Amino acid sequence: MAKAVFLDRDGVINRLSMGNYITTWDRFEFLKGAKEAIARLSNSGYLVFIVTNQSAINRGLLTEAGLEVIHNNMLCEIEEAGGHIEKIYHCPHRPDEGCKCRKPETGLFDLANAEYDIDYPDSWFVGDFESDREVARRMGLKFILASGDGGLERAVEAILAND
Ligand SMILES: [Mg+2]
Ligand SMILES: [Zn+2]
Repeated sequence: MAKAVFLDRDGVINRLSMGNYITTWDRFEFLKGAKEAIARLSNSGYLVFIVTNQSAINRGLLTEAGLEVIHNNMLCEIEEAGGHIEKIYHCPHRPDEGCKCRKPETGLFDLANAEYDIDYPDSWFVGDFESDREVARRMGLKFILASGDGGLERAVEAILAND
């Protein structure tokens, strides 16, 4: 069984751009310390996953291919900083579609669960809103808030201190 850390993307890894969906790589801005924090998790034996709601896709603002370009660029920079993301799971649906994968539904986590043998009680979800706590509760994951510059660094410090 593997310990894992599930990271929300927007607001945890990259800066929220209020009212703007991140539809191109030039709108993606890493928060300070985020890449280094991911590297610390990777190097401490955690599988690191990203679970992200990307309703811009089904709103018609972003294509799956466009999202892949953004994610490939992001993964490149994370790897350059010494980190490794095991896999990214995204929900393309709008809230009104009532899908089973848009957080706080657990579908994205269920996908990871089907592919990996994850030790849930010893694993974490990192989100930037108090409402993210709900999905962690449903999955039996520990939860920690992180937002803004330095937020993920502080969260990772707490996760590693809790080991
Ligand atoms: Mg978020
Ligand atoms: Zn969905």
